[in-house]
Amino acid sequence: MFAIGLSQKKKGIHSFDIPKPEISTGDEVLIRILQTGIGGTDRSLLKHHLVDPPETDDFLILGHETFGVVEDLGDQVRGLKKGDVIVPMVRRGCGICPSCRHNKSDYCYTGLFKEHGIHKLHGFLTSYTVVPAKYVVKVPRGLRDVAIWAESLSIVEKAIAQMRLVQMRVPNLCDHPQHEWHDKNWGGCKRALVIGAGPIGFLATALLRLEQMEVYVLEIVPEDSLKVQLVKEMGAHFVDGNTFPPEKIVEAIGHVDIIFEASGVSDLALQFIPLMARNSVYVMTGIPRAEIKPTEVDANLLLRHIVRQNQVIIGSVNGNREHFERALIHMIRIEKTFHSILERAITHHFPLKDFEKGFYLKDPNQIKVVFQVHSK
Ligand SMILES: [Zn+2]
Ligand SMILES: [Zn+2]
Repeated sequence: MFAIGLSQKKKGIHSFDIPKPEISTGDEVLIRILQTGIGGTDRSLLKHHLVDPPETDDFLILGHETFGVVEDLGDQVRGLKKGDVIVPMVRRGCGICPSCRHNKSDYCYTGLFKEHGIHKLHGFLTSYTVVPAKYVVKVPRGLRDVAIWAESLSIVEKAIAQMRLVQMRVPNLCDHPQHEWHDKNWGGCKRALVIGAGPIGFLATALLRLEQMEVYVLEIVPEDSLKVQLVKEMGAHFVDGNTFPPEKIVEAIGHVDIIFEASGVSDLALQFIPLMARNSVYVMTGIPRAEIKPTEVDANLLLRHIVRQNQVIIGSVNGNREHFERALIHMIRIEKTFHSILERAITHHFPLKDFEKGFYLKDPNQIKVVFQVHSK
């Protein structure tokens, strides 16, 4: 079976010939992969040659954003049938800690979890995969064309859910009881600054706009690029990071209730901490690589602001079943409200054999790049 990944022996992206997997226990599902997408994480693993393979191999098959069709299933699997479209989750819990034992492996305590296509488990840039049924989520009808977004959106769902939980600590700034952080209309009269309009920033903008927030998106790409056009189409304001320094940006926007960091550019991300509003929250989802040179910060200034202004900075990674399920529900609303914007943001399709074209694509208008594996 043709597969794409990284080798410990040789840098670069390579193809491998691996055996087709089979169901070995009654609780497993054999998935015929339809599409697998790639994003910043995959390109970063390739760029920095970060190969963390399963114990038995010296290579790692990449790809953690995927969906496919149930080809076969074990006799103990309930609630799924052949032909169902499903998304496998990325992380497998450690099986030891309380979080993992309660289906919240995104909050694993031991760090002994594994992740498909990233950390000690092969990924989905291939034709078939076998996973335990408890790690798959069923895709609602009509979402097949955009199911590739489920994994990325689950990350945004988790980040926003955490941020709301944290903000339930403070009284609301506006006078509308329906806009309290715990209310279902919580986004009303609130402002967000999203840093970065790549896939995660784009999805964060979509969710925050669905919640009626006033959203500002900071980017350094030209205003006529597709990334910026799409966030503007959802009613967000574009902030040109090349023209305006952080303090001018925040001064012009006014009170910012939340900052959502989705750039992974640490210098830029840190500059916004001393600019946070009182009682506000800053959620970070970008992961700067340790290989990038350390950055200098004025620690006194940062701590002074964080303490004196009741600020909270949250790091958020991964998502569990709850976040995948919520993502799939929100995807229906996003597509309806913003005229199939998720479908339009899948900018490039390649057959798997053209993996090098996909990984080394230089198109500035790329948002989501997917590899088509099976057509049905
Ligand atoms: Zn755990
Ligand atoms: Zn209000």
